[in-house]
Amino acid sequence: FLGAVGSELGMPTYIVGGFVRDLLLNKTNFDLDIVVEGNANSFASAFKNYFDIKIVEHKEFLASSMFFHDGLRIDVATARTEFYKRPAALPEVDMSTIKKDLYRRDFSINAMAVKLNQEEFGMLIDFFGSRNDLARGTIRALHPLSFIEDPTRVLRAIRFEQRFGFEIEVRTAELLKNCVREDYLDKVAGQRLRDELNKILLEPQPLKAIRRFSTLGVIEKLFPGVVFDRQIDFAVEKYFLRRPRNIGYIGEDRVFYTLMMILLRYSSNEQVQWNIQRYGLPRNFLERLKDARENADNISRESPERPSEYHRMIKSKKAETLNFLNSQLDDERDRSFEEYLKRLKGTKLAIDGEHLKRVYGLKEGPEIREILDALYCARLDGLEIEKEDGFVKNFL
Ligand code: ATP
Repeated sequence: FLGAVGSELGMPTYIVGGFVRDLLLNKTNFDLDIVVEGNANSFASAFKNYFDIKIVEHKEFLASSMFFHDGLRIDVATARTEFYKRPAALPEVDMSTIKKDLYRRDFSINAMAVKLNQEEFGMLIDFFGSRNDLARGTIRALHPLSFIEDPTRVLRAIRFEQRFGFEIEVRTAELLKNCVREDYLDKVAGQRLRDELNKILLEPQPLKAIRRFSTLGVIEKLFPGVVFDRQIDFAVEKYFLRRPRNIGYIGEDRVFYTLMMILLRYSSNEQVQWNIQRYGLPRNFLERLKDARENADNISRESPERPSEYHRMIKSKKAETLNFLNSQLDDERDRSFEEYLKRLKGTKLAIDGEHLKRVYGLKEGPEIREILDALYCARLDGLEIEKEDGFVKNFL
């Protein structure tokens, strides 16, 4: 139907990018990116005549997002030719517009389109040998300046390489290394890098990508001062191998924070501050990192065993701090710490401050806190929930 609307307006209409790539790889993809040779905002308005959709226009890009009630979203963009604007440009030759649109994309595998207008419905548009690259498992930049134009493509190349088990083509790898060596990553806004990093962290195997970063010299450019040595590698590995079992709701940013804590474990305060600024980390990140490091040192020095010992030693119970600590432990400490995390998640007191006041006539004050803390620690160490009252009586 998209094609029919396009034809009605006389606009060649294509589905492009990741969707086409994944279609050829037989993978599902719900990112529907449409490109029209014409005004995408007019396209969206015409589409609204037939479907009850909400439209959000992105005027500056001549693009619209169309939202359906069932949650489906389709993005429509105007085929872009802005890099080629010339006064009195020749009238566009057939398909030159979509070709230019595809040419400004990141890699050949993402630069295919499928035509949607009835006349040529389903026609695969492949100007750059994309299909061949897809079949061979090659990540290839479309032109020599690709990484310089947009250095976030360095991260994207590694993401796709790891996701599909592909290989970055030799010449593309040279261009990538050159971009990294010449410090082009410095020119990109931190937030854009963070967004690309987060996408990598959402992939099933971020560890491989991070190791690849390290061999390509990307880590020290992204995070100056970080030396990706055996120790850090070990902690990163531990974190990602364990992540499914780790505690807390692991949202994107939390994974990012935890990774930053692990990478910046041995960095100076100045270096940490620099990273806070660059990547928009919370202002108290340095304090949190210092506390977490101190906790890690205490744990390795004092070798706690019981859950309550861990509990008293660890100040912040935020998921990223606990996950960071988990990544820092030696094998000896592993089991007892995991046990602590498990108990921490499963332990909730049956009685509360109100109960203490009502049943034991206690007054508001620090004593109540103290009793509840002691009780909680006893519960962590295995006290059964029915024995809470008995514990309080004893305590008093
Ligand atoms: P995913 O499956 O992870 O969503 P994707 O290929 O759909 O991968 P998106 O980031 O959603 O990735 O981008 C959609 C399309 O836009 C890509 O397929 C690519 O053609 C183009 N694109 C995205 N980012 C860039 C970029 N930095 N440079 C050039 N083209 C890009």
